[in-house]
Amino acid sequence: MTEPLKPGSVIGILGGGQLGRMLSVAASRLGFKTCIFEPGGDCPASHVSNYHFQKPYEDEAALKAFAEAVDVITYEFENIPTAALDAIEAVRPVRQVRPSRRALQVSQDRLGEKNFLSDLGLKTAPFAAVDDEDSLVAALDQIGAPSILKTRRFGYDGKGQARLTSANDASQALRDMGGQPAILEGFVEFSCEISVIGARGLDGQVACFDPGENVHREGILRTTTVPADVSAAQRADAVLLTGQILNALEYVGVLGVELFVTPGDLIVNEIAPRVHNSGHWTQQGCSVDQFEQHIRAVAGWPLGDGSRHTDVVMENLIGDDVNHLPDIARESTASLHLYGKADTKPGRKMGHVNRVKP
Ligand code: AMP
Repeated sequence: MTEPLKPGSVIGILGGGQLGRMLSVAASRLGFKTCIFEPGGDCPASHVSNYHFQKPYEDEAALKAFAEAVDVITYEFENIPTAALDAIEAVRPVRQVRPSRRALQVSQDRLGEKNFLSDLGLKTAPFAAVDDEDSLVAALDQIGAPSILKTRRFGYDGKGQARLTSANDASQALRDMGGQPAILEGFVEFSCEISVIGARGLDGQVACFDPGENVHREGILRTTTVPADVSAAQRADAVLLTGQILNALEYVGVLGVELFVTPGDLIVNEIAPRVHNSGHWTQQGCSVDQFEQHIRAVAGWPLGDGSRHTDVVMENLIGDDVNHLPDIARESTASLHLYGKADTKPGRKMGHVNRVKP
């Protein structure tokens, strides 16, 4: 399919969390239907999607039926099992899975991701592969401490990571990871963290949102503030390098790029081949937000104008933060987005609030 998708077409989304929920709402505003593939029931996206394949990712027949039922396929998380993609691609031409598999491959493995970024000439933290005690000793020799040991795969929100203040902490940290392949990263003394949410259309058009400044607590994003407090040159460089990544991957859709800002450099921490928590501010800051931009891209539509018309602070509502809902609901400049999750748990993202500058 190279023609733009017509309203009424069905967009398939792998995953049924809050990102799938907000993608479904955006798709429905453009007249599309959505069909999610998600093993869990009563998940955030199921409340607002037209169809739900509630099947495990190991169910090949269900994946094929899902692929046949939709006009294009996208996803809201990057850890999609390879076998599930094989099953989908057996019925759906590869180019109708957007963004492509290459973007998933690159971002699923921290080592492959760092190599990809370095090959593009972008700066990353110093890194070395760690597979066992011997390679850990070699990595510590090269990188030293302080440093961070991270699992190569399946890490998110600071999970699968250990900060090493000295080399003595390293062996225990590796054992705690249960023998999973890991990567040792030098600790970056950054002045702040920013991210760029960029989009690339089917025709190669690139559009990036303004960089946002991110504050994390216990590995989880707490707030994103736009504009970020960085120089105009750094803002422009951040956008340019995001375009470079999008083009190198021949990407179709929205991608998040997380960066550390140091006095002289922008250091790429990681990329996420999907809409991103640090892009939620766009819902109130731009006419076309990241969710609509992603739907436009995967539907083969022209990208929208994502320029920022308002300053915004996005705050995640995590765990018991939802106890403050009555107060937030009374605030005049706050837009509330709740994900419809039944149970509140510590560390669980329950919603977010966008506060605009009056
Ligand atoms: P990640 O899962 O890689 O995004 O890491 C989660 C958070 O840990 C980042 O947003 C940073 O605040 C911090 N972090 C990760 N890697 C490094 C690093 N190499 N140097 C300093 N801080 C880091």
